[in-house]
Amino acid sequence: MSLIVQKYGGTSIGTIEKIGNVADKVAACVKNGNKVVVAVSAMSGETNKLIALANEMSENKHARELDVLVSTGEQVTIALLTMALLDRGCDARSYTGAQIRMVTDDAHGKARIKNIQCENMKADLDANRVVVVAGFQGVDENGNITTLGRGGSDTTAVAIAAALEADECQIYTDVSGVYTTDPRVEPKARKLDRITFEEMLEMASLGSKVLQIRAVEFAGKYNVPLRVLSSFEEGEGTLIALEDDGVEQALISGIAFNRDEAQLTIKGVPDQPGVASKILGPVTDANIEIDMIVQNTSEDGFTDFTFTVHRNDYQAAHDLLKGVCADLGAKKLKGDDAIVKISLVGVGMRSHAGIANTMFATLANENINILMISTSEIKISVVVDEKYLELGVRSLHEAFGLDSDGHLKNL
Ligand code: ADP
Ligand code: ASP
Ligand code: MG
Repeated sequence: MSLIVQKYGGTSIGTIEKIGNVADKVAACVKNGNKVVVAVSAMSGETNKLIALANEMSENKHARELDVLVSTGEQVTIALLTMALLDRGCDARSYTGAQIRMVTDDAHGKARIKNIQCENMKADLDANRVVVVAGFQGVDENGNITTLGRGGSDTTAVAIAAALEADECQIYTDVSGVYTTDPRVEPKARKLDRITFEEMLEMASLGSKVLQIRAVEFAGKYNVPLRVLSSFEEGEGTLIALEDDGVEQALISGIAFNRDEAQLTIKGVPDQPGVASKILGPVTDANIEIDMIVQNTSEDGFTDFTFTVHRNDYQAAHDLLKGVCADLGAKKLKGDDAIVKISLVGVGMRSHAGIANTMFATLANENINILMISTSEIKISVVVDEKYLELGVRSLHEAFGLDSDGHLKNL
């Protein structure tokens, strides 16, 4: 007998019929002798609708109330799924995040899980009952409802799997697993049978939203066996696991991209000690996260300084920098919120030189100008104009032999 935690995303439970199909799958898993906890998202589109309602109601950011509102989407689906399970003769009970005491910090909209009370879930499982938990939501130490950030139901599932020491955490979604890149951008993308936690973490951090970043972090930290599978088709999906010494690592596992980027450049800044902190300090003080940073070598005592932020923060960062520019006596402020980041990810990169060169040559062949570059041991990222996203991803996918009909090129 195994203890399995399953998570079903919005598209998997987007209609009454689909919730019925999910109930069939859960009931079958129980019939096979497993104990099952199910975490569910809201029906597809519901969270967006709730956010839109809040925006219609008020221009202000009422973080606590927004969490009270957006967490309701998941309360609908836990009840409906539990009804469907009961109708199938499968004993089940639904719980909100507060009811299972999914305790988080008080950072509304991006709360972090601190602990989970397992006793009630265990009692239900011992009584052969399926536990249906609302994803995405928790409660802070003072009883306020919190949410875990977009895509947070993945993290709910992994955290429960870690707390209950489940045998596997299965993330059911609308694709058959983790692919070499988003199959919606490159139809030739290939499903991966397995990927390491480290690579999946990079892919998620660099924009592959198939799993929430924190879910992967959690799974890696607590070594939770994690699998991404389709709700609609049979298959083994993709196993996210520790690096396996016995297996020859692919050079590149995947290509991630992020459309949410924007770039800011201050030109002609007097190059003096402390200039970076004078530019970035006010930005981080305003809680704006900075991603890539480049400072040019100085010429005649002046330098250019470029960095990227989330597109939603672009205007705020631009406004802040106007003041900074004046203070520093910089010559010009430039901005561009129509850029994207494309990244190659692979642990195999560690032992291979020449990958960056192939990447740059491939983009050059397509006349794609690179605006920024950043590298780490297992990834190379470039920033390019957003109009080149599809072309860039597809040409790199082919160049690195990732196409489903491709052959690994000699590098
Ligand atoms: P859910 O509602 O089930 O949580 P999401 O929309 O959050 O589903 O995640 C699934 C989507 O992730 C897919 O439909 C796909 O477009 C996207 N995606 C992005 N990158 C990848 C990738 N490398 N492999 C698979 N899917 C990816
Ligand atoms: N319903 C939430 C969202 O849309 C959480 C999730 O789906 O994981 O972001
Ligand atoms: Mg998701």
